[in-house]
Amino acid sequence: MRKPLMAGNWKMNKTIAESADLAKALKSAVSDVSAVEILICPTFTSLAAVNAEIKGTNIKLGAQNLFWENKGAFTGEISPTMLKDAGCSFVLIGHSERRQYFGETDESVNKKTKAAFAAELIPVVCVGETLEEREKNITFKVIEKQVRNGLKDLHGDCAKIVVIAYEPVWAIGTGKTASPDQAQEVHAFIRKIYDDMYKGAGEQIRILYGGSVKPDNVSTLMQQPDIDGGLVGGASLDADSFTKLAKFAK
Ligand code: PEP
Repeated sequence: MRKPLMAGNWKMNKTIAESADLAKALKSAVSDVSAVEILICPTFTSLAAVNAEIKGTNIKLGAQNLFWENKGAFTGEISPTMLKDAGCSFVLIGHSERRQYFGETDESVNKKTKAAFAAELIPVVCVGETLEEREKNITFKVIEKQVRNGLKDLHGDCAKIVVIAYEPVWAIGTGKTASPDQAQEVHAFIRKIYDDMYKGAGEQIRILYGGSVKPDNVSTLMQQPDIDGGLVGGASLDADSFTKLAKFAK
């Protein structure tokens, strides 16, 4: 049985004080939620303050990126052990904005995924096609390549606890959501590919949907058999809307 995961990606938003306020509002609003795992991913600068608010609650802390080395001359980067030290238990890897603006590739995604596991962080690895790729009918080819290359060579239990987020790029921050059927079709495909890579693990891993998830569409998305939760941008920046998402009725 896969426990649903609702993850908020705050992106490059909120000061330290604003982040702490949002975490504080959330922790009381979702304190009664036990059927859904809740994750919030603030900016690096807000991690410590948010951790201080949510430590010991049912909200987990995640970062939005990491570098694969643990220390050294890598100006501007943050290491997996630093994230662990800051209280993180999850980290987003290969978000489409990082692929689009910061040159993230399947190769860097794979290095980061392994580095996350080495520091006992659970990676949430993002995949998804662009509008152009969907219109050219190469969605499945693109997704297969991202999954096979980004998630290769995982060992032992790592292959069973990784989280994948399917985020069609055309649906992120645009207000356009993939229809539940469109999303389900790709989620089922990802599970099949992953099971081919790691026998038996396909049924165990959680696959989140991301792309304009809102309180009014979460329920129909979550009714799909292969959608195990959401990776949410805009609607995670407000305590009321993210609480509604965390309390969706499956
Ligand atoms: C995201 O940040 O991963 C995302 C899906 O954003 P939004 O919910 O705003 O579309």
